[in-house]
Amino acid sequence: MRVLLLGGTTEASHVARELAAAGIAAVFSYAGRTADPVAQPLPTRVGGFGGVDGLADYLRHERITHVIDATHPFASQISSNAIDACAQTATPLIAYVREPWVAGPDDKWQHVCSVEEAATALPDLPAKVFLGIGKQHLRAFARQSQHFYLLRLVDAPATALPLPNAEIVVARGPFTIEGDLELLRAHRITHIVARNAGGEGAKAKLDAARALGLPVIMIDRPSVPERRTAQSVDQVMRWLTQSACLGV
Ligand code: NAP
Repeated sequence: MRVLLLGGTTEASHVARELAAAGIAAVFSYAGRTADPVAQPLPTRVGGFGGVDGLADYLRHERITHVIDATHPFASQISSNAIDACAQTATPLIAYVREPWVAGPDDKWQHVCSVEEAATALPDLPAKVFLGIGKQHLRAFARQSQHFYLLRLVDAPATALPLPNAEIVVARGPFTIEGDLELLRAHRITHIVARNAGGEGAKAKLDAARALGLPVIMIDRPSVPERRTAQSVDQVMRWLTQSACLGV
């Protein structure tokens, strides 16, 4: 057995620890988006594969027998590529998918389908907006320049932001409700824009928004074609063990 683990999330790091502890041969793959990625207890490669064909070539060349897709729920391109490349090479695939967050009775969520829709859902009057969406999609908010934006990013951006009135907090999760309450209060935030990533690491901002009665514009997940999924590290490891026993 030789596993390719597509990572870049807290969950992927958990899976990496389990694979290493179980002595399973595996390669961890990062896209290379962050300057200082979390060190993994597995041999690690960094960078894209070159689309579906590049990934399929990699699987053949590296004699990968199983692929675990533990990428972010909004990283839909690599997830679709993994489905196609695994189909092309008959490599078994499982995706570790976090449950999406669900609004409770005290939450004030407005659901939207894209970053662009989130930007247009903001009010016309100047607001103070916490943008919890990463650095890749900020341009959509440039037209709404009447607002103040508070961004939380893993790395300080190398180039100027497309937002004239913005402040950056450089921090890596997991975050706490106490910390996020303080952050939102300190900047007098009036609106939260979030992507429905699910998981525990970034949930604190929603708990803090609920406590402060703030509206949340929630960007729903992009769709990914049908695939085998797991909701826990244990399920992923069980699937691997069963596959090994069955010789697949
Ligand atoms: P994406 O749009 O699905 O992927 C774009 C391209 O990046 C892919 O086609 C692939 O390039 C490369 N890529 C993505 N993940 C890779 C991986 N683990 N190993 C090797 N290549 C990878 O993904 P994204 O939204 O840009 O996110 C990039 C990475 O950051 C993902 O691995 C994800 O887990 C992590 N991440 C993303 C977010 C987010 O908000 N999207 C948040 C936290 C972490 P090729 O086509 O050349 O193979």
